Amino acid sequence: AKAAGRSNFRIFNEDMLLQANNRLMIEQDISSAIAEHQLRLFLQPIVSIADGKLKGFEALVRWFHPKRGLIMPANFIPDIENSDAIIEVGNYVLAEAVQLLQRLKHKDWGELYIAVNLSARHYLAPGLAEYIRSLLLSNGITAKGLLLEVTEESVIEQVDKAMEVMAELKTLGVRIAIDDFGTGYSSLSYLKQLPFDVLKIDRCFTSGIQENDADTHIVTTVIDLAHNLGRTVVAEGVESELQYEFLATAGCELAQGYLLAKPMDEHRIMSVLDSIHDS
Ligand code: C2E
Ligand code: CA
Ligand code: CA
Ligand code: CA
Repeated sequence: AKAAGRSNFRIFNEDMLLQANNRLMIEQDISSAIAEHQLRLFLQPIVSIADGKLKGFEALVRWFHPKRGLIMPANFIPDIENSDAIIEVGNYVLAEAVQLLQRLKHKDWGELYIAVNLSARHYLAPGLAEYIRSLLLSNGITAKGLLLEVTEESVIEQVDKAMEVMAELKTLGVRIAIDDFGTGYSSLSYLKQLPFDVLKIDRCFTSGIQENDADTHIVTTVIDLAHNLGRTVVAEGVESELQYEFLATAGCELAQGYLLAKPMDEHRIMSVLDSIHDS
């Protein structure tokens, strides 16, 4: 029994303990981080390829930790995606995004939308549509200002449930994007049944445009597929003129990437927009 005990113990190596500790620390930290406004949205412009016009932003969360400094989402979102902390963060991001839409509405910059990332657990959690409905209502924002980005895993693991939630959100008038398209396991037959609006081509494909044949073909095929289903396409991670021109020719509607702008804080976004509209 003792030997078995010891070998069981060995399963929990130091790495795992460290990871578990880190996760626990982050989960405990996150509530106070939200309360103390340490989580902030950065915004990355999304532009229409045909005319270069600004259409909206993707909201990307950053954690300004008082002791650890700036923490990027890749370094805390995955750690909380299997706990309810992700719902807390997601609801906070949604509320901040809707309030931001209200501040944008007071400017005269045309209709801009904000895209918010939703983790699978949050997307499938009860009450999401109702929460969004009340946020929009209390801030006087129309639903088309909000685009929800969900990944393939959110819609593939529980297809029936995912379909139900999407239908509910569509009834509200909120738009939905499938994010990181092509990196997950979505089956095309499921996809065609889902009432999403936008398909986002992942940066891993965009970066291969005219660098390798496979990625170049994938990009044109995905654009055609989306168009055949009546959907709009956003190419992510556009970093070069060459990629941009290729996407324009391929008929891709929207682009997002460092070529156009990096994610910026609200202050920066507002002053950039102010100067564009003043000149
Ligand atoms: P994502 O949804 O695929 O977001 C796009 C990521 O690509 C962002 O990284 C963005 O800064 C980066 N990016 C945009 N254009 C370029 C480019 O031209 N080149 C390169 N190299 N990168 C580019 P970020 O902000 O670090 O976010 C990473 C991931 O964290 C996001 O990937 C998303 O999955 C997740 N995330 C961010 N904010 C939230 C949030 O509020 N909720 C949830 N659930 N996840 C979030
Ligand atoms: Ca996204
Ligand atoms: Ca993405
Ligand atoms: Ca991604």
